[in-house]
Amino acid sequence: MAWDFETDPEFEQQLEWMRSFIDSELIPLEPILRDISAAEWQPVKVHLQSQVKERGLWGAFLDPKLGGPGFGQLKLALMSEIIGRCMMSMTIFGVQAPDSGNMELLAHGATDAQKERWLWPNLRGEISSAFALTEPFLAGSDPTVIGTTAVQDGDEWVIEGHKWFITNASVADIILVLAETNPEGRPHKHASILIVPAGTPGMEIVRDIGTMAHPDVEYGRPGNHAELVFRDCRVPADHMIGAPGDGFVLAQQRLGGGRIHHAMRWLGQAQRSLDIMCERAVSRTSHGKLLAQHQMVQDYVALSHTEIQAARLLTFQTAWKMDKYGANKVRADLGMVKAHVSKVVLAVLDRTIQVCGALGYSSDLPVEEWYRGTRFGPIGDGPDELHKSVLARTILKGYSPVEGWPTEHIPSRRAAAEEKWRELRVAAGVR
Ligand SMILES: Cc1cc2nc3c(=O)[nH]c(=O)nc-3n(C[C@H](O)[C@H](O)[C@H](O)COP(=O)(O)OP(=O)(O)OC[C@H]3O[C@@H](n4cnc5c(N)ncnc54)[C@H](O)[C@@H]3O)c2cc1C
Repeated sequence: MAWDFETDPEFEQQLEWMRSFIDSELIPLEPILRDISAAEWQPVKVHLQSQVKERGLWGAFLDPKLGGPGFGQLKLALMSEIIGRCMMSMTIFGVQAPDSGNMELLAHGATDAQKERWLWPNLRGEISSAFALTEPFLAGSDPTVIGTTAVQDGDEWVIEGHKWFITNASVADIILVLAETNPEGRPHKHASILIVPAGTPGMEIVRDIGTMAHPDVEYGRPGNHAELVFRDCRVPADHMIGAPGDGFVLAQQRLGGGRIHHAMRWLGQAQRSLDIMCERAVSRTSHGKLLAQHQMVQDYVALSHTEIQAARLLTFQTAWKMDKYGANKVRADLGMVKAHVSKVVLAVLDRTIQVCGALGYSSDLPVEEWYRGTRFGPIGDGPDELHKSVLARTILKGYSPVEGWPTEHIPSRRAAAEEKWRELRVAAGVR
């Protein structure tokens, strides 16, 4: 019987290396990270990435047949939990969203020539990518309806449209744009993915949008979210990934894995936040007692720990199911994990702010920034309401309606119970 909560010793050593590498090389940089210039950061980033590559831990989300090390989703979950303790680790370990999802999409849909041109350089970290689905004037939750179009003109596709909230679009080398090419194929065979290289005439990066995470956004920083307009933007025919009409399905493939990958990282952020809460609770006194001795604070600690542990098990088990049955078979579970863990991490961050009082609210601690940054969780990659709705519909498919009283109606079950009792008495020889 296989029912094991331990990691194999060799992989545990890799995890141990990751913990100490992130603790000693990355976390210490956090207080000055935003002050470091892009030019200075570049060689240091490459130096750090090369250590991860030497260790065989780079780009861990991709299967070997897709060009990655092939750890599978469960091992990726264990790694991502560690990476999530310090979000800049994503870049250093080559699992940075949106690149990771884009690479999965290219791995599934691109031709060999397209892989040579865009996937492998993206995987090696030589180029970066963005993914443009969401639009300002149509609900991003429902990509069966999109306003951006692409029309073939000779050996070119001509893109017209308006996108927004496109992460990294202002710094990416390529943008994967979802555009409608086959209106007759609505709702699921209507759109295609086109690669638009940075600087293509007709693609205007209007601005980087101010957000909760970065209200005073500085244009052109990685992690920003851009607004884009396409006017007579032309790309060669070979810039389409997959066949015309494949875009929706390719995008779903990309987003499915991305949802649980967010959750895996949030586990690490939640735990680091709880560490901050607990340290404060055992360090500060109010009304003659340590904060840790006040029962309501104990409730915050116990609840946060319990929620994190439950979220870990749910995430790890779903990752295991992905490895065993494939992502498509557990699509509803992936949305469930994202919807659940996004709530858990925000709740833990919120309690940490509360227990740390004014200090927690201040930017002297990292928690308020993490809270603002992670608040996108219940919205991004499809709002949680949608995932819960998909989950509920999947569950409900297993049930059939009954006429009259419910199956469990006690008075209706009485006759069958008496009959069963008669049988058992006879079988047991009771007179
Ligand atoms: C930080 C961040 C980064 C992002 N990066 C990208 C990116 O790189 N590329 C990209 O294309 N997009 C990106 N997005 C956009 C993201 O995918 C969308 O915000 C998301 O899919 C929701 O779409 P919307 O914002 O248009 O909200 P809407 O679709 O307008 O929905 C608004 C709200 O309506 C409710 N709602 C909608 N549908 C349902 C339903 N079926 N049932 C119940 N309630 C519902 C929910 O409360 C939802 O939050 C990003 C968003 C954020 C916040």
